[in-house]
Order: sequence, then C-alpha cells, then structure tokens
Amino acid sequence: RRDTNMTDQATDSDKAQPAPQAGGEEHAFSAEVGRLLDLVVHALYSEREIFLRELVANAADATDRRRFEALTDAARTLPEGAGVRIDPDKDARRLTISDDGTGMSKDELARNLGTIARSGTRAFGQELDKQKPGENAGDRPSLIGQFGVGFYAAFMVADHVDVVSRRAGSDEAWRWSSDGKGSFTLSPATRERPGTDIVLYIKEDADEFLDAWRLESIVRKWADHIAWPITIRRDGE
Ligand code: ADP
Ligand code: MG
Repeated sequence: RRDTNMTDQATDSDKAQPAPQAGGEEHAFSAEVGRLLDLVVHALYSEREIFLRELVANAADATDRRRFEALTDAARTLPEGAGVRIDPDKDARRLTISDDGTGMSKDELARNLGTIARSGTRAFGQELDKQKPGENAGDRPSLIGQFGVGFYAAFMVADHVDVVSRRAGSDEAWRWSSDGKGSFTLSPATRERPGTDIVLYIKEDADEFLDAWRLESIVRKWADHIAWPITIRRDGE
C-alpha cells in the first residue's frame, strides 16, 4: 500500500501543484468574506463563467505591478514572455491560472485572500446589508455581475482552491488553501520562479470549465482587453 502511494506521488511530481493538502496554519475568514462566499456558492449557473474574468484580471494586474516594481528593483524584472497561462487538466479535474506577477508573501496572502480589502467588494457588502431579514442571498444573484466578487468568484466553480505564490524578490513560496467554508490554511511551498498559481479543483457540475474551447470563448468574451499574452493549454500539450 505504501508503495502505491509513493508511485502516485512520483507520477505527480512533474506537475507544479500537488492535490489539496490538509495541515498548515489555519486562519478564519473575516465575517464579510464568509457572507460573500455564501452568496458566491449560490450564484446562477449562467454567471459562473465570470470567475475567469476575475482571475485573469488579477493575474494581469499583478504583472503590471511587477513591471512597475522592477523600475526601482532590477531583481524583480519580468521574465521573457511574461503573461497569463490557463492550464486545464481533465484527468485531475484541475484548472490552473498562472502568472509571472508580483506574487504574494505569506502576510499578503492572508490579508488579500482572507479579508475584503478592495473597495468594489466593500460596496457589494453594503448592497448585501440592504437585504431584508430572511431574504436569501441567492435571490439577488445579479449583484455578482454588477459588482464583481474578485478572487472569491473562484468558489463558483471550484470546491477547493489552492494558491501557490512566491513574491518577486523573495526565495520563499507559500500555499494558501481553502474549501471556502470559513477558513483557509497557509503552509510553506516551493515555486521555481516568482509569480502565482491559482489552482481550482473543479466542482462536479462544472466540467465545462475544464474544456479548452470553452475557456477560450470566455477569454474572448471577457478578457479581450488584457494587455499581456494569455495562453490556454490544450489537453495533452
Ligand atoms: P481586487 O482585484 O479588486 O483588488 P480581488 O478579490 O480580485 O480584488 O483580489 C484581492 C487582492 O488579492 C488583489 O488586490 C491582490 O492584491 C491580490 N491578488 C489576487 N490575485 C493575485 C495574483 N494573481 N497575484 C498577486 N496578487 C493577487
Ligand atoms: Mg480582482
């Protein structure tokens, strides 16, 4: 039995990301994030595709920020061919969105992906406050399209999300890991270069988001204005 296990790990080791892991340092989401996630999991099917818009936008923003940081710190210079990579893996039911952006330190992971820092999402929270008692968050799904829910949109299509990130200018990498149910964990990780991998473990009813053609059509629809190259990996490539 032990042998089988080790073989599995060896087969997996050429992939950058292992399966979701237990353990690590546990942190609770802020109450606001909890409410947001509750709304996100009840999103309309037709709205789910915007998760990719949010994640690609974040990847591009981080790449912009790194280009800016490199002006005063040559160690953060962008690698050749910097951009956004979208890698669906049907067998592993895993979709990875990778970038060469700033990356996040351990503290930045906890702050940026554990609380609601951005103003857009805060406005969203205020809209939610206007809800009447007893009104289901899912009754007002159009708010998702209107305000955008940023990174947390990932939980519309994934039941588990890992974020592996290495801050530009640092050798350290960290893994943020969550099933979107109240808490996330942080644990040490490895990443060859600075940047971020957002690893989505796709929900059973969300197979379409493992299909390269479907992903391409979403990118064309929502991410046409992105200035960095976006590459979608075809199965088997
Ligand atoms: P917003 O993009 O409006 O700030 P998000 O919820 O989409 O809100 O993301 C929250 C924060 O998490 C971002 O502001 C950024 O600091 C950080 N972040 C998210 N994705 C990435 C990424 N791929 N690389 C670096 N930082 C990221
Ligand atoms: Mg964003």
